[in-house]
Amino acid sequence: MGRLEDRINAIKQITRERPELRKPLELHTMILEAQRQIRESPGKGTSLDWNDKPLISNLQSDAIKSNKPIAGLLDASVFDSILLLQTCEKVAGIFFEKGAKEEELKELIHEMKSGRINIQDAVSAVLKGDAEPFGSYGEKFGIDPALIFFIISSLIQPCIEEIADKTDSSLKEKWWQSQCPVCGRVPMCARSKNNKRYLVCTFCGSRYLADQFLCTNCGNTDPSTLKFLTLEDNPEFRVDYCEKCKHYLKVIDEDKSGRPVPESLEDIITIDLDMIAKDAGLVRI
Ligand SMILES: [Zn+2]
Ligand SMILES: [Zn+2]
Repeated sequence: MGRLEDRINAIKQITRERPELRKPLELHTMILEAQRQIRESPGKGTSLDWNDKPLISNLQSDAIKSNKPIAGLLDASVFDSILLLQTCEKVAGIFFEKGAKEEELKELIHEMKSGRINIQDAVSAVLKGDAEPFGSYGEKFGIDPALIFFIISSLIQPCIEEIADKTDSSLKEKWWQSQCPVCGRVPMCARSKNNKRYLVCTFCGSRYLADQFLCTNCGNTDPSTLKFLTLEDNPEFRVDYCEKCKHYLKVIDEDKSGRPVPESLEDIITIDLDMIAKDAGLVRI
């Protein structure tokens, strides 16, 4: 995924070219900055060594064998609680600035610092894609569960990105499922190259092969009900959608000339596609 400074500079460049994207790009940069300490730690917030090739290859083969994403195979106890808590405060601070419920978020962090809520348990739920605990934290503290899920997810993102970066093509070419093989999220974006469509996970940076004719939401594979929409002035961007469930995927066609889209920014840069999808009565996953 590249060095932090390079990523931040790429974002600055796009902000100059696309000032209308300033807000989401600014939030993206603030999160990257808040994650700096974890990103610069050798284990990316864990006690593990991600240069250890057998570690990665075992995780990868276990994921293929069990058909489960790698994140779900990690034990949350490998994460450094102190580093998690420090970063959690920084990420939450971004949302205070943006007007989120400051007192309520502070209360949640206080509970995590005191150990009454174990931050590793929250991390474990994110790793397994289990939304249930966030529903109860949300209710207890009066905070949107999706915001708590987002904040805790940001703590493991550097580690999950590192894993995605180190996995090899066997996982990317053999996975054949909609959900991301590394973090388990269902992607919103894809890149098309040489008539192959690769799903792109904007959380961890994974790219993995998927059938051209597959709805990533409902699994529909009938080509007669899988359609697409394009933007007149931007032929490199299109919306692939499913007539059965009305969900869509935003596709960057790398065979058509266009400015290269930096990794992890696919969802922000294709924001115009969300508008045309919405106008067409489609639903975001
Ligand atoms: Zn992912
Ligand atoms: Zn569908």
